Amino acid sequence: MSRSFSLLTSAFLLGTLTLSACGGRPPQPRIAPAPNPTLAIVRANLWDGTGRAVVSNAVTLVRAGRIVCAGAAGECLVPPGARIIDAHGKWLIPGLIDSHVHLLFLTHGSAGEDLSLDLRNLLAQGITTVRDMGTNPAELLSRVNTLSMTPRVYAMQLVAGRRFFFNGFRGTRTARGTVYRQPPAMTMQSLGWTPMLYTSDTDPDSVVEAARSAGAMGLKLYAQLDVESVRELTQAAHRVGMPVWGHAWVQPASALEQLMSGQDGVVHAAGLAGELFSAGERDTLVDDGRLQVATADVATVGSAHDPRVLEALDSMARRGTIFEPTLDATYHSVAYFNAKRRHIPSEQEEYVRAASGFGIEVTREAVRRGVRISAGSDHVAYGPAIERATLIGELRLLVDSVALTPRAALLAATRDAARAIGGEPGRRLGTIVAGHYADLVLLNKNPLEDIDNLDSIEWVMKAGRIWRPGQLRSGIAMR
Ligand SMILES: [Zn+2]
Repeated sequence: MSRSFSLLTSAFLLGTLTLSACGGRPPQPRIAPAPNPTLAIVRANLWDGTGRAVVSNAVTLVRAGRIVCAGAAGECLVPPGARIIDAHGKWLIPGLIDSHVHLLFLTHGSAGEDLSLDLRNLLAQGITTVRDMGTNPAELLSRVNTLSMTPRVYAMQLVAGRRFFFNGFRGTRTARGTVYRQPPAMTMQSLGWTPMLYTSDTDPDSVVEAARSAGAMGLKLYAQLDVESVRELTQAAHRVGMPVWGHAWVQPASALEQLMSGQDGVVHAAGLAGELFSAGERDTLVDDGRLQVATADVATVGSAHDPRVLEALDSMARRGTIFEPTLDATYHSVAYFNAKRRHIPSEQEEYVRAASGFGIEVTREAVRRGVRISAGSDHVAYGPAIERATLIGELRLLVDSVALTPRAALLAATRDAARAIGGEPGRRLGTIVAGHYADLVLLNKNPLEDIDNLDSIEWVMKAGRIWRPGQLRSGIAMR
């Protein structure tokens, strides 16, 4: 690419000279040449996310929002007149991708301010692309389109079965009496989210079409779906080239059944606990309260090595299904209970503690078995910032608790996250190669040495436009 670029430039110059030399035209008035629109980032240590070794003293050329060339100084020639950024001693990496966030919360009447500040804050952390794993695609995307300081946002459409929408306000008997819950869909709808209902009477193609017209790029299977429903929805989405992701598990369908149906990705390591229930138990354990208690009972560090869990992980490895553990969200929940001054035992706490230990151990097994990992954090753009899961938190856990190398963790938040999202991100994001979108992060310290060095951001570039973290964060600081 660099060679053809320099050849083109030479041919152009040669042509100009030839014309002048022939003297076939009358003298033209001198017009100052337009500044070269190319930006050259020179002398950085380039980690391009493709798997190749770090290139020191690199040249990266950016023009019109795209990478033109990235490589050694001899590979990429800086064209005359290019604007130059000297990045000597710094580290250039692909823009980070968080493949699991929830951005839209229409509580208290408006999410406008929260959404805008949150997106700026994500960008300030070097995150140039996010995938919203289910809120309200049409509303979210139209709001994002009005903002300028935001990562690229892709959205998935939530789909769930009948009991998610209509549980008849059935009570659950507990030691303290009967607890009545509203249908989970109603809780979601009160946030402004738009889960879609799927039953055996629904035409799966119409669900896919409705998701597409809402702007979603794929389906996120959420809950209360049996194996037939999973299969029908997956096939319908695949017919039009849309990916299908789902919770592990979607009650009653198990993660293994979802994999056998051709689902593209599985989220939540803790959800693999579903594999530990029999088919009969899975059919009846659909009530939220009972499910939490039952999960807390079976999910242990030891049961993460149960043959049924391992079978699901091996199936993911064989099929190339991508796994998104979302460890930081559970970690935050545990931290919340740890920070409480007065300890009041609760089912929620038992569940969270069991899910955390089990989830980390399942992720270790997944890595050992060759399952591809995508770093999704389950970040939510609502509530106290300190309680929100973050991509860097997820990467820290992948390094510190799962024992990934910083390089492997970075791949999970760049190249592999782009592949996980698929569609346009799969073709144009995640690595620094010619033709890809110019989404980059310049760091002052080496992230391959210590993943915490992702904090040392000099600037973030999206589509060729550069911001320093302070410019993006100022809005947050003013709150
Ligand atoms: Zn989520």
